[in-house]
Amino acid sequence: MEERVWRCSCGGLLDLEFEADFPLEKIRLRKPTMWRYREAIPISHDSNIISFLEGYTPLLEVDLEDRTVLFKEDHLLPTGSFKDRGASVLISKARELRVGRVVEDSSGNAGCSIAAYSARAGIGCKIFVPWNVSPIKLIQMRSYGAEIVRVPGSREDAAAAALGAAEKEYYASHSRNPFFLHGVKTFAFEVCEQLGWRAPDSVVLPVGNGTLLLGAYIGFKELLEAGVIHETPRIVGVQSSNCAPLYEAFKRGSVGIPDIEAGATIAEGVAVAKPPRGGQILEAVKASEGKLIAVGEAEIWESLREISRKGLCIEPTSAAAIAGLKRYLGEADPKEVIVSTFTGHGLKAADKMLEIIDGD
Ligand SMILES: *Cc1c(COP(=O)(O)O)cnc(C)c1O
Repeated sequence: MEERVWRCSCGGLLDLEFEADFPLEKIRLRKPTMWRYREAIPISHDSNIISFLEGYTPLLEVDLEDRTVLFKEDHLLPTGSFKDRGASVLISKARELRVGRVVEDSSGNAGCSIAAYSARAGIGCKIFVPWNVSPIKLIQMRSYGAEIVRVPGSREDAAAAALGAAEKEYYASHSRNPFFLHGVKTFAFEVCEQLGWRAPDSVVLPVGNGTLLLGAYIGFKELLEAGVIHETPRIVGVQSSNCAPLYEAFKRGSVGIPDIEAGATIAEGVAVAKPPRGGQILEAVKASEGKLIAVGEAEIWESLREISRKGLCIEPTSAAAIAGLKRYLGEADPKEVIVSTFTGHGLKAADKMLEIIDGD
């Protein structure tokens, strides 16, 4: 796709038709970055790649509830969250399209990633943030030189403002632009390679806009279609029960995403009341024979405290996934190979982390 479009001319969401190739012998000899799967990433020319040599994060064994679970350490990516995977490919595409400036809306981590990769590309970057944006993430975005527009109102109001600006500028939207998903999908490639080119039995992921969940789904499917793996994992998505539109839809068996009354949650990274790709997320979860789980604030805090005491510094949003994982372990087969991920670094939420220390 060589045009500067980020949505379908019908106004709907755009998806990419793309055939991924996996030359395993070549891949094995390449640098340990997400770009080792070069033939599976839809960027035409290497000269357009915008990278900090991100990816190939360790797959760490962690003991939880008498079980061993594998966690991707994506909190160690360059800006401290998994969103760097998506931003690397999306901003490479913007470079390929000779875009001079991008707009994005974000409550935090996506804005940090898009700002950093735009800086590396020498592309201008404007980010619309909601009024209650986390102060630390705002500092990080500004430090990379992004222009920040603080929008009065909610996260949805910031998205509406960015959509307006996107009439004139390239919308580097993590939730809508399909190139973002084609970066995030490298999560699945790495997991399978690290398991000896096998898929795990299940993956447990936090889900807000679903870029991680859908990216993983696309990645596993591409590996299956290329004959590299022979089965794809069950996908378990975890939401905060204070903002759980996908969980509600799943529970009711509906295809549409219900309007929900969103309450406050410590898991700010998954506090998305109206995920634009909600229907696709539900389809992916069902196709994988997975499920959605919603966890309460107390469980999230407890999981954050527990994982912190194991020497790991992750965001409260990542702890929501761990809380969901702990519930899932109660029903999982003892032999299942289960993979989850640390989506964001705890230092990005140092203000919130104070509460678990002060609680002692
Ligand atoms: C963005 C984010 C999530 C949720 O990812 P989605 O793609 O919106 O589902 C989870 N954890 C962290 C730390 C995030 O930044």
